[in-house]
Amino acid sequence: MRRPVLDRFNDLWALHPPTGCWLWTGATDRYGYGMKTAYDPKRVRSAHRVAHELFIGDIASGLDVLHSCDRLFQRGDLSNRRCVNPSHLKQGTNVENVSDMVGLSRQARGIECHSARMTDGTVALARTMFAAGVARSELAERFSVSWRTIDRAIRGETWRHVQNDPPTKSSQSPGPQSPAP
Ligand SMILES: [Zn+2]
Repeated sequence: MRRPVLDRFNDLWALHPPTGCWLWTGATDRYGYGMKTAYDPKRVRSAHRVAHELFIGDIASGLDVLHSCDRLFQRGDLSNRRCVNPSHLKQGTNVENVSDMVGLSRQARGIECHSARMTDGTVALARTMFAAGVARSELAERFSVSWRTIDRAIRGETWRHVQNDPPTKSSQSPGPQSPAP
């Protein structure tokens, strides 16, 4: 029996602590993008596109998956092409890709704040992986944060604004409120 695709995928990247990038350790193509063998060994796909599908969702037809982490590396360093961190990926057109490269967008709040070790995307992912059976200790290691940080993020004690499929509806139901003093 084959291991779940998420497990096999997760064996093939390593955290790059300065950037938070998850650099693909598997094969790369001649442009430096990670390559992932799909179910059919003859069918090879871009690792970052596979990451998008695994962790974020389907890619709309005609769109590329773009990296937002290129500016975290020195000019000329194309390592970010190997990045498969879903919080660094987004769908876009080739035109956006180019304007991103010359633009100065500041959407990467969590990335730019060096004290923030997790981002909205990694929190959402950690919750997804936890739901899929990955232990907190392993998540802590993968995201380079403490067990307690992971635990609190998973339970929603922190990062409340990150929308996941809520584990219970109770926190969202308009249940009885304790009266204001
Ligand atoms: Zn990255």
